[in-house]
Amino acid sequence: MNAKKNKTLLKKPKYNILFVSSELHPFAKTGGLGDVSSSLPKALKALKQDIRVLIPAYPFAIEKAASIKHVATINLPESGFPGQLGLSTQPGEIRSVAILETKLPGSHVKVWMIESEIYNRSGTPYSDENNNEWEDNDFRFALLNYIAVEIAMGRASLEWLPDVVHGNDWQAGLIGVLLEQEHSESQKRPATVFTIHNMAHMGIYSRERFDALELEAHLWNHHELEFHDDFSFIKGGLVFSDRVNTVSPTYAEEIQSEEFGYGLSGLLTYRNERLSGILNGIDMKEWNPAKDPHIKKNYSIKSLSQKHKNKIALQSHFNLPRKKKTLLLGLVARLVYQKGIDLLLENMEEILQLPVQIAILGSGDLELESRLRCWTTRYPDKIQIQLGYDESLSHLIEAGSDAFLMPSRFEPCGLNQLYSLRYGTIPIVRETGGLADTVTHASKENLSNHTATGIVFLESKGSTILDAINLASLLYQNKTIWQKLMVNGMKQEFSWKESARQYLKLYTQAIKDRDKYKKHAPVF
Ligand code: ADP
Repeated sequence: MNAKKNKTLLKKPKYNILFVSSELHPFAKTGGLGDVSSSLPKALKALKQDIRVLIPAYPFAIEKAASIKHVATINLPESGFPGQLGLSTQPGEIRSVAILETKLPGSHVKVWMIESEIYNRSGTPYSDENNNEWEDNDFRFALLNYIAVEIAMGRASLEWLPDVVHGNDWQAGLIGVLLEQEHSESQKRPATVFTIHNMAHMGIYSRERFDALELEAHLWNHHELEFHDDFSFIKGGLVFSDRVNTVSPTYAEEIQSEEFGYGLSGLLTYRNERLSGILNGIDMKEWNPAKDPHIKKNYSIKSLSQKHKNKIALQSHFNLPRKKKTLLLGLVARLVYQKGIDLLLENMEEILQLPVQIAILGSGDLELESRLRCWTTRYPDKIQIQLGYDESLSHLIEAGSDAFLMPSRFEPCGLNQLYSLRYGTIPIVRETGGLADTVTHASKENLSNHTATGIVFLESKGSTILDAINLASLLYQNKTIWQKLMVNGMKQEFSWKESARQYLKLYTQAIKDRDKYKKHAPVF
């Protein structure tokens, strides 16, 4: 083959990509989805892709945009999907939304925000300030899907058409469903990719809500949207998208089992030729101990001795005694069942008898929060908690802790273990999902061949977590071993570059599948 031809073959594709999400850091984030929605588009932009991110214009998102401009107005239909949305209208008034444009901070990635009164509420993307979910979240995210399709089919006067629409989690689950109803002879629909960040959130609503959304009646069958007499947004994404993926290879396998598939393992197994796992990366600029502005003292693999200054700062922040030689365990998480917080609580008495301190940042389940608080009253010198969300403190916890706890029941990818590895903080994790794919256990063999990076335990049990913490505290006594674990972890490569390349391949496959199959294959 001549060199010129070879070069053409190797040339990377260049796509227009519409990335649709309910979260986008730093505008709106409750967890990993917000991080991924920001760092993956940036990495794709660096690979010369034309990517635009579409999110609702929550008031707290608009507030954080340095500059923002109106670029389009989209009228909503008088009947049909997305239903009447509870938006107030005067007789004869045309219901519409505005598209506002801004940029992702520190990048040239364009962000489109959908401005509508239905998003104009304080709290989180999903709930009010007291954590009560909005009852009309189906309507709110149906609107996100509707607008994504209007943009995708060139009906938004934005003079830009995507080759691929990439939807994320249930909030974007209807995009494939709607695009398959498009039958224009002159214009092909874009290909669709659907990423599962967490199978546990499925967007399940009743028949009444299905009717109120004015979804086409023929979709109500168990091959398509119906799910045990209700209907599910995520099922729409899984059935109708050209390609489906999740955020780690192990989780892609796990969700095909009954335990992790939440009633959809059969469908996922049926579609497994079009299902894959791509590991999340991390934003290497934002999570860099050598330059992190949120921590007390910057450090790198070459100046590890400086790390302890962050430990002192963290102990002071939490009013824990400044003990240099006590193993300080950090935990930053949504305090919910998924994260195994109840399992950690099971053996808390025994854990706190070990030479350890624990610093926790998080919020979530009120009962778990109050049970954790009880321990801080009983053992204030050993365990402290800060309830709420605090981006800056989460960085200090990564830098200042000796080890990081992630006793998750399941973890699609997990980001904190990756931040921990980069910060020389030893992750203590359950062997599940992305945790299994990214942390290597400190066995004798792995220590001697320099691959060990953390402590990995198998069973989802309180006593196993206790054993793992016990092992950590023993290893911590041996400076050489501990240092080795830190260095091995810090040498790992979890940038987005390689994962973004895999997403590019996935887009190419999705486009091929769209052309090959035209319509989704019937399930079963
Ligand atoms: P999940 O998406 O299931 O919540 P991940 O580990 O994938 O879990 O991502 C969680 C992200 O949210 C991490 O960046 C973590 O640091 C952050 N985070 C979670 N809770 C808090 C909190 N209370 N304050 C600050 N950051 C938080």
